[in-house]
Amino acid sequence: MKILIGHCGHEANTFASRVLDFETFKDYSNWLQGDVLKETFPDTPTYLGGMLEAGNEFDVDMVFSIAAEAPAPLLSHECAESILAEILQDVKAAQDGLDGICYMLHGAGCAEGIDDLESYILQNIRNIVGDKMPICVPLDLHGNITPEMARLATLFGIKQYPHVDCKEAGLLAMKTCIESIERGESPQTACIRLPLLIPCSAGYTFAEPFTSILTFLEEYKNTHKLIDVTFFHGFPYCDRDITGSSIVVTSWSDPSEHAAVLADYIWQRRSDFTAESLSASEALDLAEDSAAAGFIVINELSDNAGGGAPGDGTHLLRELLARDLPKSIFGYIYDKEAVTEIHKGKVGDKISFQLGGKTEPMHGDPLFINNARIVSLSDGDHISTSPVQAGVPHSIGRSARVRTGNVEIIIGSKLTQTYDDRPFLVTGADIEQYRYVCLKSAHHFHAYFDDRAGEIIPCDTPGIVSGNLSAFNYEHVKRPIYPLDKETVFLI
Ligand SMILES: [Zn+2]
Repeated sequence: MKILIGHCGHEANTFASRVLDFETFKDYSNWLQGDVLKETFPDTPTYLGGMLEAGNEFDVDMVFSIAAEAPAPLLSHECAESILAEILQDVKAAQDGLDGICYMLHGAGCAEGIDDLESYILQNIRNIVGDKMPICVPLDLHGNITPEMARLATLFGIKQYPHVDCKEAGLLAMKTCIESIERGESPQTACIRLPLLIPCSAGYTFAEPFTSILTFLEEYKNTHKLIDVTFFHGFPYCDRDITGSSIVVTSWSDPSEHAAVLADYIWQRRSDFTAESLSASEALDLAEDSAAAGFIVINELSDNAGGGAPGDGTHLLRELLARDLPKSIFGYIYDKEAVTEIHKGKVGDKISFQLGGKTEPMHGDPLFINNARIVSLSDGDHISTSPVQAGVPHSIGRSARVRTGNVEIIIGSKLTQTYDDRPFLVTGADIEQYRYVCLKSAHHFHAYFDDRAGEIIPCDTPGIVSGNLSAFNYEHVKRPIYPLDKETVFLI
């Protein structure tokens, strides 16, 4: 049995002013291709880790395509076509004797002129392999899923945010692909979209309302012997008419009625998906007043590169510098130009430079850092220890740690979010030695920090991943939609 496996994910933030070209997408996405996947992903908590485990268990002849994922601005049309060409080249190369395809696609991919990137890719794959070949596709819960995707492939989803269950989704998709090949038929997938936007800041699944929702969905799935049931939160920062939450059900028999029941259940809970929204000043006030032991994490969720934000926003850092609190560290802010300047010096040198605020006006003006001391210089490379991607090579790029007053700042040159303590550690900083630990991430960092931090305080500064959806100028999202339109009616 021969199966092509891969992972190519894109999550489009259309509120970003930039458009991504192919070379930048490859840089952001840690693009790998071919047999190197076989060495990189075994025993990792990733989609590919799950596919590899199932493939090895059932002695599948696996052919390796791409491993890449980038939450980012909109792709240029040329970028989307280049990505598609790479995928199709792998499909054609594997086509002789190919029985099935198991390919992670994010679900919120979008390019200039291509609103539903996943369906576009799947249709082009279908044009090569035909309508009958099993194609199993695990997706991110931030996907804006469409019935067209469900028509073209068998769909699966992760349930948790932080995304600690990617391996399970990859494993289930691969096992179902294998079973589909053996049975000579594919399961059916039903997708029902809800007129509902959920800000990422309200999507943490290890607390209510999600713990009870996930329990209900899991019990429903087991009672009705369904293969998979996923509540996709959707990605509200992609301003397109397909944007919104959805229920997706996959089963060997027609899942349409089950999807309708579950979509109605989610709709009844629509007012539960809210999160508090603190300014930088309010968040640091709370941190200063906290009696918690150990270190306090203040996460700037609205500048989360994992949602397409620039990662060089200055709102929280500006407030931290103004307060000059003892034992403060910011890890990290993205600024390639600043890193280049700092690396012209050596540890111990004093340096002045412009920092951050160079990409999106909403994220604040550049800071002038005057006469800071270079504490350490690093290549930024590390192996992730986060439960989201433990064991996977990761990097914040060539980087530096500088000190100005009481505040230490880590500056990186590769855009990603902070998942664990590695961005600190690669510059020699032990977070246990600090009181105020600031970082940029919405929820993935929770997987590592929940058990370690004395307290975690979210901070929602102005930015293109803010939890305050009413601040966005939506032009294309299908209206009415909740919570922008409070009286929205949902008819299945
Ligand atoms: Zn996601």
